[in-house]
Amino acid sequence: MSDTVIETLQFNCTTCPSECLLTVEVERDANGAVVEARSVTGNNCPRGDKFAHQELTCPMRVLTTTVTVSGGDVALLPVRTAEAIPLALHAQAMDLIRGLVVEAPIRMSDVVLPNLLNTGIDLIASMDVE
Ligand code: SF4
Repeated sequence: MSDTVIETLQFNCTTCPSECLLTVEVERDANGAVVEARSVTGNNCPRGDKFAHQELTCPMRVLTTTVTVSGGDVALLPVRTAEAIPLALHAQAMDLIRGLVVEAPIRMSDVVLPNLLNTGIDLIASMDVE
């Protein structure tokens, strides 16, 4: 007798603006952990299949927030990660970012914090501040 269960999930692929609705058949063990994604349908390209597997094992998201500005014409600078990082690291990243103060002037895409939590991804400015 098998200890695993099969579950069907639906979620959107967010890799491109088409946002295809994916239907994913997932096998879970007795603890609810994903054993494997058995099938992915609804994707209009192969990237949807890759996204579904990533989403079930290590979901990735771009982190967006603000940091304090010193000497600028605004008090807060919008920032984001240059690429998606593991969703599981977002809380830890926010703890780190919360204490940051950046000096104006700042140009959009300037690196605010390099290699955030050793992800290899930089935290960058989302706008200019004079
Ligand atoms: S499956 Fe392909 S076409 Fe559909 S949203 Fe994902 S990347 Fe875009």
